[in-house]
Amino acid sequence: MSDFVVGISGGIGSGKTTVTDLFAGYGIEVIDADVIARQVVEPGTPALKAIVAKLSESVLNDAGTLDRAKLRTLVFKDLALKDWLNQLLHPAIREQMLLQTQQAQSPYCLLSVPLLVEGGLYQEVNRVAIVDLDEQTQMQRALQRDKTNQQQIRAIMAAQATRAERLAVADDVIDNSGTPADLAPQVKQLHLNYLRLANRS
Ligand code: ADP
Repeated sequence: MSDFVVGISGGIGSGKTTVTDLFAGYGIEVIDADVIARQVVEPGTPALKAIVAKLSESVLNDAGTLDRAKLRTLVFKDLALKDWLNQLLHPAIREQMLLQTQQAQSPYCLLSVPLLVEGGLYQEVNRVAIVDLDEQTQMQRALQRDKTNQQQIRAIMAAQATRAERLAVADDVIDNSGTPADLAPQVKQLHLNYLRLANRS
């Protein structure tokens, strides 16, 4: 069981996945909040049942899975519905995240949460690592990956913590302004440090 949890975050397109893949290469378990957010509304879950009870089966795809695009459209128009949904999903996601960190078998584990800073969860992990780069490069990489427009990425960035807010809570900063190859030595050094810290805790 991992008693030592490193929360890792960064803005959209900052390189969180690229970085956590490198930690995973050392056998470190990565718990991803985005993955859990999908798991808690899989068919048969209490959360999906509650959503269908409130909004009817029209929010389901033919396969019985949640039609996320449809739900997003409904929530976009209705703030009260958005609040209701957050109150339903946030505790479920949080509970799963804690459970999965407790069940992790590696010497320490990573909890990858896009909104680690915004949601206050950074206060509950043993260590905070932030993947950092300038906003212009972040925009370019997010655009290239998501094949969307600047406006959409800008809206997501505006809803996230600022670079300064993230850096203010960071114990460790991973600089991803260079090439992917520049990440490996940084991750290696942090990994060795986390092993030491986890042994002590
Ligand atoms: P996040 O998970 O934080 O949204 P990703 O790890 O998916 O970010 O990285 C965003 C995009 O940028 C991906 O397409 C990824 O391959 C690319 N990328 C990540 N790091 C670098 C880098 N140092 N140089 C160039 N491209 C990168």
